[in-house]
Amino acid sequence: MKVEALAGKTALVTGASRGIGRAIAVKLAENGAFVYINYAANHKAAAETLKMIEKTPGKGALLSFDVADLSAVQKAFKEIISTRERLDILVNNAGLSIDGLTVRVREEDFDRLCRTNLKGTFNCCQAATRPMMKQRGGRIINVTSVVALAGNAGQAAYAATKAGIVGLTKSLARELGARNICVNAVAPGFIETDMTSAISAEQKEKVREQIPLSRLGTTEDVAAVVAFLTTEEAAYITGQVVGVNGGLYM
Ligand code: NAP
Repeated sequence: MKVEALAGKTALVTGASRGIGRAIAVKLAENGAFVYINYAANHKAAAETLKMIEKTPGKGALLSFDVADLSAVQKAFKEIISTRERLDILVNNAGLSIDGLTVRVREEDFDRLCRTNLKGTFNCCQAATRPMMKQRGGRIINVTSVVALAGNAGQAAYAATKAGIVGLTKSLARELGARNICVNAVAPGFIETDMTSAISAEQKEKVREQIPLSRLGTTEDVAAVVAFLTTEEAAYITGQVVGVNGGLYM
């Protein structure tokens, strides 16, 4: 990738206070972008992401809002457009997981997963569409999961929200292709973050044994692929689901 390939570009990464989102935000800033760091509540962690960005050629700003709250999303996008006059890159990464066998899933947990993972992604896609159509260009990258494609016992509700993101991504790619807007999804496998920290060392070893590349993924593994999808070199890729899973699912 060219040095500072994203100079002059404005990006929004949702859920960028921690984990995969933080790595994506830092990577886009390393490539020269101005990056809005969205988060739900963890101001301290988000401020840490901003500090990391300040060491790169790019710049950044904090922008806290709940992706599930449509009016908060619309307000945030209004602020971005009035300040920066454009939005070139949207990465819908904010998400949560609540695991459990289907028979035990509580209605409020199912609703929470749908609101944050699926409705949150839809809300931001919808809010980005008009400014990107006006600009006649843009990139949207939605973070789904390997379990959307492969399924996973104990994650039916989470997997359903992530599979919804795949349908959303492909449909939006068809709607926006003529406006030079590429919409893709990235499907991480097992990545070491807060989300997966509760899993025991023994369980992690079991997962590792199923991965052809014989290791769990890093947040940087995912960020590198997302960053590639924002570049000129990726201009002919749309409607795709790119797996970043060490071969766990093919
Ligand atoms: P994480 O470490 O738990 O971080 C989640 C991020 O999402 C945080 O920045 C959090 O903000 C933010 N967030 C949560 N709810 C939000 C809301 N309603 N509005 C705005 N921001 C919200 O998660 P991660 O492991 O990095 O996962 C990131 C994405 O990758 C998720 O979509 C996840 O489903 C997906 N994924 C992860 C893995 C994995 O193995 N880790 C695998 C496949 C897919 P606060 O800090 O303010 O709470």
